[in-house]
Amino acid sequence: MEKDNVVNGHETLEFQAEVKQLLDIVINSLYTDREIFLRELISNAADALEKIRYQSITEKDMLDPDLPYEITIEPNEKDKILTIADTGIGMTRDELVRNLGTIAHSGSKSFFHQLVDADKKDLNLIGQFGVGFYSAFMVAKKVRVLTRSYLPGSEGYEWVSDGVGSFTINQAEGLKRGTTIILVLKENAYEFAEKETVKKIVQRYSNFVPFAIMLDEEKV
Ligand code: ADP
Ligand code: MG
Repeated sequence: MEKDNVVNGHETLEFQAEVKQLLDIVINSLYTDREIFLRELISNAADALEKIRYQSITEKDMLDPDLPYEITIEPNEKDKILTIADTGIGMTRDELVRNLGTIAHSGSKSFFHQLVDADKKDLNLIGQFGVGFYSAFMVAKKVRVLTRSYLPGSEGYEWVSDGVGSFTINQAEGLKRGTTIILVLKENAYEFAEKETVKKIVQRYSNFVPFAIMLDEEKV
């Protein structure tokens, strides 16, 4: 991965070539089932909560041990923003760069090449390629990720990208343990800032999630 620029902890980094290609498909394909991005982000939040729950069995020394294990979803219709937050394991700076800048799992690369080569792109399977996170760019023109690892002494970081070529990383103050994904929606995806729309989608997936999902203040 190329390091383009570092100014006071602010770094601009290039996506790995495969990720650029994948994002190009995600951003430009006329895929009708776009709501699956929410399934992918909820499943990532649930995975992160599963990991912290597991760590907490043996590891007593962690950041914010008393935070409840939950997922919070906040549609903001006025600003056309959808936020998905969890109190899970969070990511260190290096994990952030690797997990959201490369295709980390070697097994998923071959599947990925099949997707690139297929005439008819079936993005519904994106989660099975181990790259579900990038589906956020089906609906978002900009994605911000705020995260802080459970490791004692960890710092918080902000990851920002428009999905085209590169992403930036900054240190972020005042974060609690876990990860918050902020989607600045595309003009043709404003429906995902409407509470009723989001609620219907979340209800479809919430049965499979063993953690509380809060939509605004209500449990879904
Ligand atoms: P997968 O979930 O199949 O590994 P994704 O593209 O959905 O693939 O996510 C890539 C990686 O990014 C995850 O494996 C995880 O390490 C990290 N990640 C994504 N979302 C979160 C989150 N909410 N909290 C912590 N780590 C996350
Ligand atoms: Mg995933």
